[in-house]
Amino acid sequence: MHHFDYRQDRLYAEDIDISALAEKVGTPFYVYSEATLRRHIKVFSTAFADTDALVAYSVKANPNLAVLRILASEGAGADVVSAGELTRALHAGIAPEKIVFSGVGKTTEEMEAALNAEIYQFNVESAPELEALNNIAGDLDKIAPVAIRVNPDVAAGGHDKISTGRKEDKFGVPWTNARALYARAREMQNIRIKGVDLHIGSQIADLAPFETAFEKAAGLIKDLREDGCTIERLDLGGGLGIPYGAGTIPPHPNDYAELIKRVTAPLDVQLIFEPGRMIAGNAGLLVTKLVYVKEGEARKFLIVDAAMNDLIRPALYDAHHDIIPVKRDMDAVNARYDVVGPVCESSDYIAKARNLPEMAPGEYMAIMSAGAYGASQSSQYNTRPLIPEVLVNGDKHAIIRRRPTFDEMTALEHYPDWID
Ligand SMILES: *Cc1c(COP(=O)(O)O)cnc(C)c1O
Repeated sequence: MHHFDYRQDRLYAEDIDISALAEKVGTPFYVYSEATLRRHIKVFSTAFADTDALVAYSVKANPNLAVLRILASEGAGADVVSAGELTRALHAGIAPEKIVFSGVGKTTEEMEAALNAEIYQFNVESAPELEALNNIAGDLDKIAPVAIRVNPDVAAGGHDKISTGRKEDKFGVPWTNARALYARAREMQNIRIKGVDLHIGSQIADLAPFETAFEKAAGLIKDLREDGCTIERLDLGGGLGIPYGAGTIPPHPNDYAELIKRVTAPLDVQLIFEPGRMIAGNAGLLVTKLVYVKEGEARKFLIVDAAMNDLIRPALYDAHHDIIPVKRDMDAVNARYDVVGPVCESSDYIAKARNLPEMAPGEYMAIMSAGAYGASQSSQYNTRPLIPEVLVNGDKHAIIRRRPTFDEMTALEHYPDWID
C-alpha cells in the first residue's frame, strides 16, 4: 500500500499535487512519501513484534539521509555494505548497536571504521575475510562480533542478476565448508561468533525458496551447537519482493513472518532482517516529462527526460515499472509505445511495447515503484545531473537532495598543468 493516488484525475503524493510539484522542482525528479516509508517499516516490524528481532534496513535500497533518519525514528537499524553507507547510517542517527555490515569485499579501512564504530555484527563471507578481520581487530585490540554468511544453494529472486544464494553466486561461504569455517573462527582470538547469516536474493515473489533456505539454516545451527558453538542470532537477510504492477504478487510480510516463526521458534535466537526494497520500493516514484513522440518504422517511441542513468532497473534487470500519466484523461485512446530516454544507448529504455494513453509533449508521467534501487543506482552518465529527490509529508514537501550545478558536477576534475 502506498500514498500515491488520483484526486479528480490528478496524481497526488499524499496531499501534494504532482503536476504543481513538477512545475516547481523541474523534471525529472524522485518523490518519496514519508507516510508510506513509515507504514512499510511498521508493517514489517509489527509482523515480528512478538519475537526478539532487529530490523536492519538495507541502506543500498535508498540511502538518502532523510530516508535513513525517518526509518531510524521508527526504531530501524541498518544493513550497510560499505564504509560510506556506515557513515551515512551513523550520520542519520542509527545506533551502532543496530548496524550490521554485509558484503564480499570489505577492505581493511572499512573493517577498521566498523570496529571503531563498535557495530553490532560483521557478516563475514569468506575464509580470507575472516582471517583479515581477526588480524585487524587484533591490531586495534578489539573483538569483532561475527556471523558467517552461508550460501544455502537455493535458487531465488526475480532475475538472474539478483539471485545470490546459489552455489554459482559469489556470495556467502559454500554450504559444505561452513562447519569447518566456524570451527576455525572459534579458535581466533579477536573473533566472537554470534550467529549465522544468509541472504538468498532480491524481489523474491514466493515463500518456497525462503522456507528451503531457512530450514537449512536451522539445521546448520543445530549442527554448530553440537560442535560447541554458541549461536545467539540468525540473520535472514532481505529479499522479500514487492508488487511492481505486473507478474506475481509477492507474499505479505505477515505470511513471511508466520513461516519464519514456525521454522525458527525451536532455535531460541535473535532474528535479524535486512529488508530494503520492501520498505522503500513503493514509497517512491520518478516523475518525468514527455519530450517528443517519435514514429519509428516499427515502433512508436515516447522520448522522456528521464533515462537509464536516473533509473537503470529496466536496462539492468529487464524490470517492469508501471507508468501512469500525472493528469489522467479517461477519453484518451491507448497506443503501444516504447518509453525511452535521451541517453546514447539502445538499452536506455523505461518500458517496451507498453499500452499508454496518447499524450502531448510537455505532459508529465509517473514511473511507479521507483523508491528502491532508483536514485541509489543513478549516475551522471552523459553528464546528466543527478536528479532531485523530494520528500512529501502531508501537504509539506522538502527537497532532500537537490540537482547539482555544472560546476559541482565537474568540481573534482582538473586540467593537468602541462596542457594550456
Ligand atoms: C541488497 C541486500 C539486502 C536487501 O535486499 P532487498 O531485496 O532490497 O530486501 C539485504 N541484505 C544483503 C546482504 C543485501 O546485499
